[in-house]
Amino acid sequence: MPRTVLVVNAGSSSLKVKVVPRGHAVTVERLGADSRVRGNLPGLSAHEASLERHDEAFRYVLDLLREVLDPEDVEAVGHRVVHGGEAYTAPVRIDDDVLETIEGLAALAPLHNPANVAGIRAAQAHLPGATHVAVFDTAFHATLPPRAFLFGLPHELYTQDGIRRYGFHGPSHDYVSRLAARELGVPRDDLRIVSLHLGNGASATAVDRGESVDTTMGLTPLDGLLMGTRAGSIDPGVLLHLLRNGMDVDELDDLLNKRSGLLGVSGVSNDMRDVRNAADGGHRGARRALAVFAYRIRKTIGAYAAAMGGLDAVVFTGGIGENDASIRAESLAGLEFLGLRIDPQANAVNARRIDAADESEGRDGPRKPAIFVIPTDEERMIAESAEAVLDGRRSEAGVSP
Ligand code: ADP
Repeated sequence: MPRTVLVVNAGSSSLKVKVVPRGHAVTVERLGADSRVRGNLPGLSAHEASLERHDEAFRYVLDLLREVLDPEDVEAVGHRVVHGGEAYTAPVRIDDDVLETIEGLAALAPLHNPANVAGIRAAQAHLPGATHVAVFDTAFHATLPPRAFLFGLPHELYTQDGIRRYGFHGPSHDYVSRLAARELGVPRDDLRIVSLHLGNGASATAVDRGESVDTTMGLTPLDGLLMGTRAGSIDPGVLLHLLRNGMDVDELDDLLNKRSGLLGVSGVSNDMRDVRNAADGGHRGARRALAVFAYRIRKTIGAYAAAMGGLDAVVFTGGIGENDASIRAESLAGLEFLGLRIDPQANAVNARRIDAADESEGRDGPRKPAIFVIPTDEERMIAESAEAVLDGRRSEAGVSP
């Protein structure tokens, strides 16, 4: 019988718990206010509950899960931890030292790490017999070379304060690039892959022969591509300009994280489906936002092909990457010079492989890059990493080959 692993994702005002492999999941949102509880347990309908803290929420969720699960059967708990800094390059079994280090990294991720720690403490208290494993969003990017992770700032800011590019969405980029290699029947160590995670948050990663060598998110998940409400890359001079003109830091934070991106540029919504519908109806702001969104992806693919000295595959994932055929087509338009050509029929139905047949196949010409649409499964990746640590296997084994 497969083992039972819980995957815990504790956000600043939410708690998501998933049972792997059975797939039962419960989510609590708006912790601290009138919390909203929903899930896919038999007989569970969405409802409100008064849950102040992660600890209360975890106990509440565990009680709901008793319908389908004996907590005694949980062998491992995989915790999503946003920031591992430079301390963690792979998933790790959580002990007091690890917990203290994760807490210490709160300076780098003030919204995320304290919530992650609260989730870990709650789960440890209620499931003391399980092995608790931290799986870091940043760990897959531990291989970034200094030329990619250094900002153009005085070097002490890196050495003393840890200010550098770290990158996020690691489990997702790792997972889909592994699956792309498997689809090609070629070891990932022989491939140059651009992985595009396009959800509410969005990031691109250059996976060069199995290693992340560049990625668009930075010290925080704010850099890079246009996102649902986040601005992505911006001239830092704009921030100075706004501050000098009277905006305070909290307002600037709110602007860049919550009022920008698709929402800000379109003036319609942070949700791609709404933006797409508005654009189809002729809304100019929505069209503008789609154009910025796709253009940033396109130039990133070009940049990463240059960074890796070539390109063997592009992978689309995340809610937008998996479902929005137009964004995929617009992002790749103009990249024919890299050999990227999309098959419109395959693209329209979100087929797993969407590149046009290679006319040079069978001849001596270079192989054209493949283009994939691969649903991400961060929870599965986290669960498998937790199991690998439980078994003492090399934890980065991740997805079973
Ligand atoms: P998160 O980053 O919160 O996990 P998701 O990966 O679920 O988010 O992605 C959410 C985004 O995916 C939203 O912008 C949503 O509009 C978009 N999306 C989901 N389904 C579709 C679809 N069928 N067509 C276009 N966009 C979609």
